[in-house]
Amino acid sequence: MQKPCLKCLLAELAETDYTRSLKEYIAAVPEDRRVDEETYQARLSCCRECDDLQNGMCAQCGCYVELRALKPEQRCPAPVKRW
Ligand code: SF4
Repeated sequence: MQKPCLKCLLAELAETDYTRSLKEYIAAVPEDRRVDEETYQARLSCCRECDDLQNGMCAQCGCYVELRALKPEQRCPAPVKRW
């Protein structure tokens, strides 16, 4: 069994059909339904520093952080919010 990649985003994981389709989905989210790039990268930087990030997924909510961080209405789900 492959060791989990701690503090890795989807972009850094070995590509599978599933991760590829997720990345395509993320790329296709229209501009009016995503945060601006600066906010997105700032959110992902917080996730990269977080012990709850594992294999691109947040252990607090089970979401892929690259998808959750993209959405304006979403917040970090941790009790002490990091973004
Ligand atoms: S708890 Fe917040 S900062 Fe940590 S991985 Fe989840 S969304 Fe990112």
